[in-house]
Formats: sequence, C-alpha cells, structure tokens
Amino acid sequence: MPLDNLRGLYQQVILERYKKPHNRGKVDPVHCYQRGHNPSCGDTIDLTLQLDPNQERIADVKFEGEGCAIALASADLMADAMRGRTVPEALQLIERFQAMMRGGEEFPREQRALNVMKGVAQFPVRIKCANLAWHTLKHALESSGSDAPAFVSSEAED
Ligand code: ZN
Repeated sequence: MPLDNLRGLYQQVILERYKKPHNRGKVDPVHCYQRGHNPSCGDTIDLTLQLDPNQERIADVKFEGEGCAIALASADLMADAMRGRTVPEALQLIERFQAMMRGGEEFPREQRALNVMKGVAQFPVRIKCANLAWHTLKHALESSGSDAPAFVSSEAED
C-alpha cells in the first residue's frame, strides 16, 4: 500500500523509527528465531532473540525484514520495550499491546513510547501491521525449545 494513502495516520515518531530503526539486525548468538508475515499488507519480519544465561530474561531482540512503516516501527518500538523483560512480563506486554490495538487502554508511563501506535487502532486494515511483530514474538516465546514451525502468519491471530 503506498505511503501517501496513509499520510494522516503517520505520526512523526513512527516515520522516524521506520527510517532510523534502533533495533534492526540480528542478535548474536541467536537463541530463538521466528519469521512473521502479514499477507494483507505484505509485511515480513525475521525476529531474533537472545536470552540471558538463565533463559529467564530477554537479553536482546532484533528484527530484519521488509514492510510498511507501521509494521517496522512497531517492531522497533517492541524491541526496545522487551529488552530485559522476563518471559511472563513480555507475554503481558504483548497482551496489553494487542488490547490497545483493539481500542483498549494506553500504556503507563514506563512504556509510554508504545502509545504512538494507538492511533493505528482507528484503521482496522493497519492493525495487523502494528500487531505483526508482537504476534511473532508471542509465537517465538511460546514455542521456544519446541519444534514449532519457524513461520507464523498474522492471518491466524484473533
Ligand atoms: Zn503493513
């Protein structure tokens, strides 16, 4: 979808993150890898995670891939929010983000950077773009250590 169709929707932060992401790349070593795809827009991201030595906390998250500004900015903001989180904390943040995209509450002070995505909730077509990274991370965390498929489609989300 061409960017100019959505001009009104992009806040400056989203565009800045899209142009100059903080967390683009691949963690080293990779403890967990998950690809996510949003067929309704064509966004694809490859998420890599590094866990701390006890496997309790997310030490680092990075992403690669191609997609619209909303999908990639959301992935970048997510990576910032996830660093240092335990797995249960991460799953809670994911749930909260998905709830916000359904029109739920904003994040409190500590994670308020994520609230720039709230405007996207008004555009149903774009919600899958915003949720893609979160949906992909959820899948990665829930399936880490198992033989789960290394590909997840946002078409399967709620
Ligand atoms: Zn998209």
